[in-house]
Amino acid sequence: MKFHFFLSFLVLVIFSSCTELTNSEATAEASVQNQSEPPAYTIAIHGGAGTILKENMSTEKEAAYLAKLNEALDKGEEILKNGGTAMDAVEATIMIMEDSPLFNAGKGAVFTNDGTNELDASFMDGKTQNAGAIGGVKTVKNPIKAARVVMDNSPHVMLSGSGADQFAKEQGLEIVDPSYFHTDRRWESLQDAKKRENKQTGYLTQVSDYKYGTVGCAALDKDGNLAAGTSTGGMTNKRWGRIGDAPIIAAGVYADNATCAVSSTGHGEYFIRYVVAYDIAARMAYLGESLEEASNHVVNKKLVEKGGSGGIISVDKDGNVAMPFNSKGMYRGYAKPNERVVKIYED
Ligand code: ASP
Repeated sequence: MKFHFFLSFLVLVIFSSCTELTNSEATAEASVQNQSEPPAYTIAIHGGAGTILKENMSTEKEAAYLAKLNEALDKGEEILKNGGTAMDAVEATIMIMEDSPLFNAGKGAVFTNDGTNELDASFMDGKTQNAGAIGGVKTVKNPIKAARVVMDNSPHVMLSGSGADQFAKEQGLEIVDPSYFHTDRRWESLQDAKKRENKQTGYLTQVSDYKYGTVGCAALDKDGNLAAGTSTGGMTNKRWGRIGDAPIIAAGVYADNATCAVSSTGHGEYFIRYVVAYDIAARMAYLGESLEEASNHVVNKKLVEKGGSGGIISVDKDGNVAMPFNSKGMYRGYAKPNERVVKIYED
């Protein structure tokens, strides 16, 4: 009888410990499933924000923009997929858009009041927080490359004007005749803007209509490093050496492995005043907001209240993407493993 009791007790102990094991294994498996693994890589791009309306867009033009945005994402994705760095992906992706006359960056940049093209660009490494920028260059074929060499090969963060052109040349970057940047479409926009400007102040009545097409990219690579870059011709009819937010670190670009990488596009003066790109990273760091919350707050609340139109694209350290804008449209897209989105208008 005693032996029988002992046997039953033993069976009970063995059974319950087995059940416990099974339960704890199941819990572990469930938490792994619930915990969303960060994607191997993420890349987001924009090709400028503004009054971009479907009714003003021809089918061919829309197709051309979508194709170019996809081509740019293909380039960056290929680099990231093969284990390349976020910095290399950002540079190569932006170069595709700079070389396209569709965007206000590199070939296709808008004209200044003097009828010249003055290009601005910035680049930031989220791992080291090194950064480089150039303002008002006139002969560098790919301004984003110039921003990167300022970061990599100079003791400075920002170079401007003829000195920046000179530095790019000394670094062996491709130099072109300023006429390379000419496109008839942007020349006509300048003539149009001149008719509409206030002659005393140089202000345009509808600023947002004269600057479509700044380009930018933010990326996360397989090593968990973030990087971002922005490149632009600025605003049509700009004068007095006006420089916008695009080459201003913390306004037009920001990257920090601890939070996120951001590239901005919009009415630059507002993005400078409200330190847009950094403000998003700061909200994440200090308030614990998600990328989406921080990006939305800055673009759709703060900038809207202040009257600054535009948008941003951002990628965080976990591979999340946010692409808010408060204008009518923004050329934009992102890619992650098995995921691709490319859009122009409001949802
Ligand atoms: N932010 C640029 C500038 O103000 C223009 C733009 O993004 O559309 O120069």
